[in-house]
Amino acid sequence: MQVYRTFSDLKLFLDKCKDENLTIGFVPTMGALHQGHVSLIEQSNTYCDISVCSVFVNPAQFNNAEDLVKYPRTEENDLKKLEAANTDVVFIPSVEEVYPSDYNPKPVDLTGIDAVMEGEYRPGHFDGVVKVVGRFFEQIEPDAAFFGEKDYQQLAVIIRMTEERNYPVTIHSCKIHREESGVAMSSRNMRLSAEGAAKAAVVYEKLNWARNNFLLRSNEEIMQNVRAYFEQSADFQLDYFMLANKDTLQAPQTKNEPTRAFIAVFLEGVRLIDNIAMN
Ligand code: AMP
Repeated sequence: MQVYRTFSDLKLFLDKCKDENLTIGFVPTMGALHQGHVSLIEQSNTYCDISVCSVFVNPAQFNNAEDLVKYPRTEENDLKKLEAANTDVVFIPSVEEVYPSDYNPKPVDLTGIDAVMEGEYRPGHFDGVVKVVGRFFEQIEPDAAFFGEKDYQQLAVIIRMTEERNYPVTIHSCKIHREESGVAMSSRNMRLSAEGAAKAAVVYEKLNWARNNFLLRSNEEIMQNVRAYFEQSADFQLDYFMLANKDTLQAPQTKNEPTRAFIAVFLEGVRLIDNIAMN
């Protein structure tokens, strides 16, 4: 496994791979890796000859300074997991390497999919995501890139950005990896107590309740019911629970539209997000 910290070193290696007609798969992460990340690397290994995983806690996508400071950083452990997952290349750049002072990308029109849910509760978040993934795509020039449905709205934003900027990259969406309890794996879960980790399972239970009731109740009734549960709970603070069209992320008008439920909720000061298909 090769470990690089500058674009120039990384590109020297990747240029040789490209000369040999090897395809490059890219998995961007913020580290503190878990099985969810590993499942993305496995997908990349399946579809591509060379898998590149970046580990970069991107300050541009944090709208909350405390969240950035508290974000777990576990480089040594990450390298072990990446080695075990047969990653070919790990890229661990500094902030200065990713964002030189003359880097001023053009904004992208995300057609409003960035305005709801995460975009509403984390202003500027998706600008930061577009900034970092765009920079990586331009420098690394991968053939394919792998993103988790765990961050479903992010995936939608990346697909839109890739179309808009005509990046020649195939975007793969990967299923959500869960703990046995149903909790969606997340680096932030490391900050939960054992008790909190057990309590978090109710998030997936409520998503499943919404799915089981999707054809039995109106969307409004489902949203009210789940919101009321979290709003009345002493443990959770709800940001949002929404049913939305999976492509436009706007409120569906009929039960025939492809619909997902999306939730963001705080538990023990840790922000949990999850989502599930309704139909
Ligand atoms: P992060 O390190 O949280 O920025 O995540 C890096 C990538 O891993 C993103 O594409 C995430 O959507 C994906 N990811 C994070 N958690 C999971 C999970 N539980 N299952 C599948 N993919 C995930």
